[in-house]
Amino acid sequence: MMQDLQQLTLALSKGRIFDETLPLLEAAGITVTENPETSRKLILATTNPHLRVIIVRASDVPTYVQYGAADFGVAGKDVLIEHGGEGLYQPIDLHIAHCRMSVAVRAGFDYVTAVRQGARLRVATKYVQIAREHFAAKGVHVDLIKLYGSMELAPLIGLSDAIVDLVSTGNTLRANNLVEVEHIMDISSRLVVNQAALKLKREALQPILQAFEQASARMA
Ligand code: AMP
Repeated sequence: MMQDLQQLTLALSKGRIFDETLPLLEAAGITVTENPETSRKLILATTNPHLRVIIVRASDVPTYVQYGAADFGVAGKDVLIEHGGEGLYQPIDLHIAHCRMSVAVRAGFDYVTAVRQGARLRVATKYVQIAREHFAAKGVHVDLIKLYGSMELAPLIGLSDAIVDLVSTGNTLRANNLVEVEHIMDISSRLVVNQAALKLKREALQPILQAFEQASARMA
């Protein structure tokens, strides 16, 4: 396939990452001319004729960039750790979409004592890589149960003792009578760039990467 060295494709996910990347694009003098929430389009034009935005599922952003279907993308640190990061150059922490990865249990479950007594815990999560590393580092034996959403339900219904999930305001945990018992790591979104694109499309990419870097440094 002939590479068009001018055309750039940026992969974003709908919601917080899309919304919080818009000001960074504005800093590079670029406006996305369609709203994915209303247009339902998956390929969006911008005011820069050489840049288009594609809308993909958050956990698919690294895959599109890894295979060069997108030249660059924005993904959470959680998503990048779970993906593994092969084929991706990760130059910038954009300091957007901040939240934290935490362990939570049902209110009333004595997590500290369970861990101290060496109980084998059942942990439900979408983030198996992060959970596995966290509990291994603590020397806690766990059975991980992979879920794809609504993790908060698992301890309430007896599927697991604990969950590992993203927490932002804590409202979801509170609404479901769960309490945060461990903070695993802070999460923010990163820019990821396809390694081949970084070399072949350097001229087109460089000004955008630079503008992103400067704008995100102001938010740090
Ligand atoms: P909150 O109620 O504000 O603590 O948000 C928690 C819910 O939103 C959980 O279901 C999380 O999985 C999800 N969530 C929070 N922050 C993020 C984020 N940065 N990216 C993706 N999902 C998130």
